[in-house]
Amino acid sequence: MTARIIDGKLIASELRARVAAEVVRVKRENGLTPGLAVVLVGSDPASQVYVRSKHKQTQEAGMASFEHVLPADVAQDDLLALIAKLNRDPAVHGILVQLPLPKSLHTETIINAIDPAKDVDGLHPSNAGRLAGGFAALSPCTPLGCIILTKSVHASLAGLNAIVIGRSNLVGRPLVQLLLNENATVTIAHSRSRDLPKLCARADLVYAAVGKPEMVRGDWIKPGATVIDVGINRLPALEGKTRLVGDVAFAEALAVAGAITPVPGGVGQMTVACLLVNTLRAACAIHGLPAPA
Ligand code: NDP
Repeated sequence: MTARIIDGKLIASELRARVAAEVVRVKRENGLTPGLAVVLVGSDPASQVYVRSKHKQTQEAGMASFEHVLPADVAQDDLLALIAKLNRDPAVHGILVQLPLPKSLHTETIINAIDPAKDVDGLHPSNAGRLAGGFAALSPCTPLGCIILTKSVHASLAGLNAIVIGRSNLVGRPLVQLLLNENATVTIAHSRSRDLPKLCARADLVYAAVGKPEMVRGDWIKPGATVIDVGINRLPALEGKTRLVGDVAFAEALAVAGAITPVPGGVGQMTVACLLVNTLRAACAIHGLPAPA
């Protein structure tokens, strides 16, 4: 048996199309143009690529896109002043500060300065706490994407055994909370967990968010399980080029799993699409409109 490959590219493009249609509707019915502000500090090439892609997709969805590029040596107070200005700006409904920030800046202080109502990355402690409490919250985009991809395979996650490998604030922890909200039974694994293969063996849903190339092997996976690979690892390839691999040994897992996301073309595609979803949701909430479907 070969696993079904979950087409993140297709699912993300369908999601972006749905968001664009909703943006047309709220513009027409409510005169509301959702706006996303992205703040980039420094000139890290990978961050620049992400910011360009966010800008393009925000505009394509019919939203306003505001880009703020600051030098790597910006003073923390100047960055905080920009965030305060964006918090007050009625044209801005979502604020995203591209991470990682230069070491001279205190990431927690910067994230805490964002108005939780505009925190479309879902990293403010207020949103993280609300999510953990089972209340409505803006949730981090990558875990949201993981849930949508899983639901393209399983109409309901209720009662399924899930394992989340990785417990970062960005991916693992919020993913655990979203899975609990979907009534899955969740095991959380991390670098101190014992016998990962055994923990994985009983999981119907495997989420790998570790940052270790091909760590999850095919023989860890229960036959027929759904495997969602969050990892993005760049490895050297022939002729000085590089190639991307996930945290799962794809070819091995493909032979055992029921469904699996590829890298690239899986979870990564969903992250920006979910950012657009969060921006639309934030805009509607700020204007007292019902949450979009
Ligand atoms: P972090 O480095 O913040 O967290 C990694 C987690 O993996 C930690 O909880 C760590 O455990 C755990 N871990 C490390 N080694 C092991 C091990 N040997 N066994 C079990 N657990 C281990 O990474 P992120 O969560 O930010 O990202 C994870 C991966 O996802 C990366 O490859 C990243 O590039 C990718 N990513 C992809 C995105 C996308 O859009 N597709 C978006 C964000 C991230 P401990 O807590 O004990 O240290």
